[in-house]
Amino acid sequence: MGEENEKKRIGLFGGTFDPVHKGHLSIAFQAAQEACLDQVLFIPAADPPHKKMPGASYWHRVAMLKAAFAELSVEQDRFVLSLLEAELPFPSYTVDTLLELKKRLLNPRCYFIIGADSLLDLHRWYQYQKLLCLTNFIVVSRPGVSLSAMQRAVKCLPGSFQSNTSNTSHQCWLRSDGAEILLLVNRLKEDISSTMIRAALQQGKVPQDVVPPVREYIAQEGLY
Ligand code: ATP
Ligand code: MG
Repeated sequence: MGEENEKKRIGLFGGTFDPVHKGHLSIAFQAAQEACLDQVLFIPAADPPHKKMPGASYWHRVAMLKAAFAELSVEQDRFVLSLLEAELPFPSYTVDTLLELKKRLLNPRCYFIIGADSLLDLHRWYQYQKLLCLTNFIVVSRPGVSLSAMQRAVKCLPGSFQSNTSNTSHQCWLRSDGAEILLLVNRLKEDISSTMIRAALQQGKVPQDVVPPVREYIAQEGLY
């Protein structure tokens, strides 16, 4: 990555992806479209600090992301897989990942993509005070998380935010230094989560919320 990244708008999508599901693909696509992102980097967590052992190893989770990407149409060639966290110290703290990306990408405008459940947790992330100095955020709503809960979560972050809906179709919280948190209304009516997919697999069901190549990979490797 080099100078061609200058002033690009880059989505950073960190997650455990255990496994990657249609909800992840949908929100990445939605964020790319609605926030005019040139690229979305999927950054699987090598050693997620906030989760007990993932159900699948890092390299299986990476392989499932590759399988999912292989099925995407050409318009989604904006999706790129980043294996950065395999190179960084464990556990994989987002602040370290962002600091490293700052060195590697020349001055992009970054948007870290999270679901609303993660926004509620953000003030517990390691060195969370630094996060909004390193990236903006795109929050995608998730069933069960109310707008008022999200507003309270934003208040737990450093600095004071102004809520702004005037020049955009979506809600946006803006801090005086220019850091922004955009809120997108999830296009999916029903929640999809990796937890539900792992539970379905453990009951011997065929999960419908993963794309076929991922389903095939899980079966072939006997995961979960
Ligand atoms: P798990 O159930 O294991 O926590 P998950 O489905 O939440 O898995 P993660 O890998 O934890 O998937 O998610 C990565 C990011 O994507 C998180 O910020 C999460 O909030 C967000 N996310 C995942 N699924 C959805 C969804 N259906 N709608 C909105 N955000 C989502
Ligand atoms: Mg989750």
